[in-house]
Formats: sequence, structure tokens, C-alpha cells
Amino acid sequence: MAIPELFWLLLPVAAVAGWFAAKRSDSRGPAAFWDYTSNFHQGLNVLLSEQQDKAPELFDEPSGTSRDTADTHIALGNLYRRRGDMDRAVLLHQSVIDKQELPEEVRATARFELARDYDSAGLLDRSEQVFRELLRSPFRREDAYASLLQLHEREHDWEQAIVVAIEFSRSTGENLRSRIAHYYCERAVLAGKESRVGDARAFLEKAREHDPDSARALMMQASAALGEGDHDQSLLLYEQVESLRPELMPEIIDAWFAALQSAGDPQRLLAFIKRIHGQRNAYSVIRSTRAVIADLHGSEAADRFFKEQILKRPSLKGLRDWAHDQVVLSRPGERDKVQVICDLLDQVVEDKPAYRCRSCGFQGNVMHWRCPGCGHWDSVSTIIGVEGE
Ligand SMILES: [Zn+2]
Repeated sequence: MAIPELFWLLLPVAAVAGWFAAKRSDSRGPAAFWDYTSNFHQGLNVLLSEQQDKAPELFDEPSGTSRDTADTHIALGNLYRRRGDMDRAVLLHQSVIDKQELPEEVRATARFELARDYDSAGLLDRSEQVFRELLRSPFRREDAYASLLQLHEREHDWEQAIVVAIEFSRSTGENLRSRIAHYYCERAVLAGKESRVGDARAFLEKAREHDPDSARALMMQASAALGEGDHDQSLLLYEQVESLRPELMPEIIDAWFAALQSAGDPQRLLAFIKRIHGQRNAYSVIRSTRAVIADLHGSEAADRFFKEQILKRPSLKGLRDWAHDQVVLSRPGERDKVQVICDLLDQVVEDKPAYRCRSCGFQGNVMHWRCPGCGHWDSVSTIIGVEGE
């Protein structure tokens, strides 16, 4: 790190710290202010000149124990962390924690930042330990809980995440029902991968105990019921998903049709198609229904349905499919031109993401329950409209 560059970076911190010090030191007179700033610059000099071993001595000086100095040390530590200098960040934050005479609130903030230093350095065990120590303090407890949850989520330690989330909501009243349900769903996914069917089922029940309206748990239960041949149960669960989260229809439509077809009740299947027919649908729903109609009533009926539907809710994907149909129907002389349009539309559709996070704007083509960009749950959803579904 270039020293001059860091110096310019630190100037605003020095200015703000000086201003705060001046404000708080009004009663102590200007001398106290100059004492303070002189100590601050001394500290800054030591840190900038790489004499880390001398830095702790500075914090032993009388003026080093004021709240202003502590705030500045915390801010400087954060700055070092952002610059990737973890040793100095830890040194500064630890020095504030060690000052017993400082107010507990300030030391709790330093502890919180120290945990973040360890987290940034990849020392997750230490980070977890410091966050846990903070849970005993009346200050920064919610932040510590939230950070612990994030830490366990990143580690995919869903068991610990559940324990912390339950403790968090009991202790602060934070509503984490839907998040806890997701943790249980994650455990069910892992159990499913290891063929522990009973465990997976139990985790999904637990998910719904915490959040009866968890669309994810309902979808997983519906899929499991379908696998076990319990079509009625599967259909019932898909209906619940649709009424709770209609935007998830593109995710469940194929499984829903599979459940209807396995149920062996043609009337029920026809009634479902009739219902789809009467409403505006997402592109994936139109595409899947078109295929089922083609099987049942032939391609003419399927094409009619398709045309009606894409006029009701135009989309680029629908237009692309329609253009592909026209290749076969067009006269030999025009076929090449229609094919060019198809190729262009294929390219346009391929470049469009299918999902977007409402929270951070992350875009992608895979459905995520937890956004890979910002870590929020249930914030990624299907892009609706001409360019999406
Ligand atoms: Zn996001």
C-alpha cells in the first residue's frame, strides 16, 4: 500500500475526528482539543511508518483512553480492514476492547469490528467466538446475531444457523420464520442428496412448522409426494403454492402437469387446461400447456391456444417460438429470411436473464432462494414482462 495514498485517504477521518473532538471538548477548552489531535497524529504517524510494535504504547497514554480516540481507532481499524491490512485492523480494535475504562458501548463496537476483521481474514472460528462474546453484551447484540447468521449461511452450516435464528428471534423478537424454514429446506435438500428420505421429510415438516406458508417447503413436499405416487397430495400442495406465490408458476407447471397426468383423471387435466386457457399466463406456462394440448388434441389446437395466449401476454420468448413455427410454414424462397429472424431472436432471448434480485439487482438464469449477490432470501424472482416471462 502506498503511504501517500493512504495519507490522503486518512485525512477526512482526521478532520472528522478533530471536529468531533472539538465539539466534545468544549468544556475542557482548546488545550484538550490540541492534546487530542497531537496524540492522534502521533498515532497516525506510527501506524503509517510501519512501526506497529510501538502502536500499543500510544493507547496507554492518558489521552488515548478518551471516547473520541477510541472512535477514531475503531474508524482507522475499519479503514485498514478495507485496505486488507488485517494485522493493524485487529491491533486497533483489540486496543479499544482492552481499555476497561472505556464505556461498554464503545468496547462492544470495537468487539463487533474485531469479529468482522477475523471474518475478512477468513478466521471464521475466531470471528464466531467474538460475535458470541458480544451476545452477552447489551450493545450490538442484534448486529452480532445477524452477522453470526450470515457466517453460518456462508458456511452452509444450516444446523447452527437454525439454533442462532431461533435464539435471535426469542431474544429480540425479530421475525425469522421464513428464514428458518429456508434453513430446514436446505437441510432437506442435503438429506435428499444422501438418500435420507425420512430425514428430508422431517426437515420439510419442521420448515412448515416455522412457516406454514413457505412456498419452497410446499414445492419440495409436492415434488416428494409426486415421487411417492401420492398425486392428490401433490396437486393439493401445488395449488397452495400457486395461491401463495403465483409468480412461481413457471417453476412448478411441468411438475403440476406430471402430477395431473400420473393421476390418470382426464377430466381433472382438462379442467386445469381450461383454467389456464381463461387467464393470462407466464411464457413457461404457455409453452408447457401447448405441449400437453398437442398430445391431447393435436398440433392445430395447440397452435391456436399458443397464438391466443401470446397475444394476451406478448413476450420475446413467445415471439421467438412463433417465428420458429413460421420457418416450416413459409414458402421456400422466404424460408432463409425467416430463419435469419429466428436466429436473431434466439440470440436476443439467450442474452436475457430470467431472474433478478429485487434487493441488489443481481441477474441470472438460475432460480436462487438466497441471492448469491446480496445474501437475501426470497429476493430473486422471475423477470415478468416482454423480456422475461
Ligand atoms: Zn441480491
